[in-house]
Amino acid sequence: MHGLMQDWPLLCHRIIDHAAKVHGRREVVTRSVEGPIHRTNYAEIRSRALKLAQRFDREGIKLGDRVATIAWNTWRHLEAWYGIMGIGAVCHTVNPRLFPDQIAWIINHAEDRIVMTDITFIPILEKIADRLPSVERYIVFTDKAHLPQTTLKNAVAYEDWIAGADGDFAWKMFDENTAAGMCYTSGTTGDPKGVVYSHRSNVLHSMMTSNGDALGAVSKDTVLPVVPLFHANSWGIAFSAPSMGTKLVMPGAKLDGASVYELLSTEKVTFTAGVPTVWLMLLQHMEKNDLKLPDLKVVACGGSAMPRSIIKAFDDMGVEVRHAWGMTEMSPVGTVGGLQGQFSHLKGDAKLDFLQMQGYAPFTVEMKITDDDGKELPWDGNTCGRLMVRGPAVSGAYYRVEDTILDQQGFFDTGDVATIDEHGYVRITDRTKDVIKSGGEWISSIDLENLAVGHPKVAEAAVIGAHHPKWGERPLLILRLKEGESVTREEILGFMDGKICKWWMPDDVAFVDSIPHTATGKILKRALREQFKDYSLP
Ligand code: ADP
Repeated sequence: MHGLMQDWPLLCHRIIDHAAKVHGRREVVTRSVEGPIHRTNYAEIRSRALKLAQRFDREGIKLGDRVATIAWNTWRHLEAWYGIMGIGAVCHTVNPRLFPDQIAWIINHAEDRIVMTDITFIPILEKIADRLPSVERYIVFTDKAHLPQTTLKNAVAYEDWIAGADGDFAWKMFDENTAAGMCYTSGTTGDPKGVVYSHRSNVLHSMMTSNGDALGAVSKDTVLPVVPLFHANSWGIAFSAPSMGTKLVMPGAKLDGASVYELLSTEKVTFTAGVPTVWLMLLQHMEKNDLKLPDLKVVACGGSAMPRSIIKAFDDMGVEVRHAWGMTEMSPVGTVGGLQGQFSHLKGDAKLDFLQMQGYAPFTVEMKITDDDGKELPWDGNTCGRLMVRGPAVSGAYYRVEDTILDQQGFFDTGDVATIDEHGYVRITDRTKDVIKSGGEWISSIDLENLAVGHPKVAEAAVIGAHHPKWGERPLLILRLKEGESVTREEILGFMDGKICKWWMPDDVAFVDSIPHTATGKILKRALREQFKDYSLP
């Protein structure tokens, strides 16, 4: 017997319809790329997104065509998302921090017809434009007055371009499994891989993250996503914020501590999300200038492991920390941290121990850990295994790649190594390719890095496996110190002693001026392994 409820396809543009109807006057505030603060609301965003959709429709952009955006978090970028998806075209977000060659590679692989961008990225695009045969036109998110002279093909200022439409247009309707968005993983190994989100997966992911124990901002919140729309879907905030009617504050191009602080403070932001580096910059700025954020309630942090010192700093300010883990292939949220009911009484170090874990899966994310042969391992909080995931917002395949990426039960291998405890709390200990195997046993580089950055003189830490004649590999701790600081190897090892088991202690410490990063801000271990490949441990 079938249920007798309505068939109401889960389409992304229904979110902005809802926001415009129910929360139409809720503000969307942006630090514009041109400089001034810009204010609009969900009703205006919807009507301008409709104009954009109308223009694309008129210009022959149709269901399934790819439109790239290389742009900061702004109201115009948000309009573009809804306008592109609302005609069934695919919004391909491109990360401007990738190398120009990689940007060219993914635009060609996706065969983008249009590129929408900010004035900031015109120079990068001009350098590669002659290698992008599929691109017919560039639309620059600005007005005529701010559009610089450019060689980009058919370049037009966004404001003039949408002014040519009256907005008397209806969204297209189609199957909810239609592609809505696309994002390439940064490809630290091999070519970048195209993840293709559907309308259904985006809507379900936004409902999943809106759950109170996940990212859970509500209509009375003011949300500032520092996490970019151009990578990993801004953790779904471009969908969840309008769906809940939260006030939205977009940081534009300025992500330094002072600029983020200014917006958090003046707009009375209650909920914000970003990677650890952003919070480090914010906290340093606040400490130096003795500043406070009385309105801030929740900081969500992910992308890489959140150091305990940052968690503690926010916790001391009375701000709730939600440590999240996920990846492009998961739309991206996989787990979100916090204290489950039975642990809500915890205080001090016991509380921080919980907050430092990556949290537990919200409903719709299924998980298991397995050994190298695919055998399931216990959820005992100790056994490390490959973290495998399944769910309606998890990739089932990569764009134009034939190989299957799922195991026989339909689980996707995240490439991360984790423990899971009996309450479902996940602790990410490594990426599969970064794990250090000492005498056949695994040592977690993330745990060692977290510990080392807790030293007051350390700015950044990376741990890699260095060749060892007896044990195969032993941990080498690589440190970048805070400006003007100096410290000895013995002092660092002494600081770590007693906080980890003896056989995990790094065999040596190397000091460097800089640590290389990927385009998504993660430590580029591959480059470090290359740099230290002939390193001889003492
Ligand atoms: P990329 O395109 O660089 O792969 P992703 O954002 O998809 O970008 O990277 C996802 C990976 O980032 C995860 O597989 C995991 O290794 C790491 N990661 C994300 N969040 C966390 C976290 N909270 N703690 C530890 N690692 C994390």
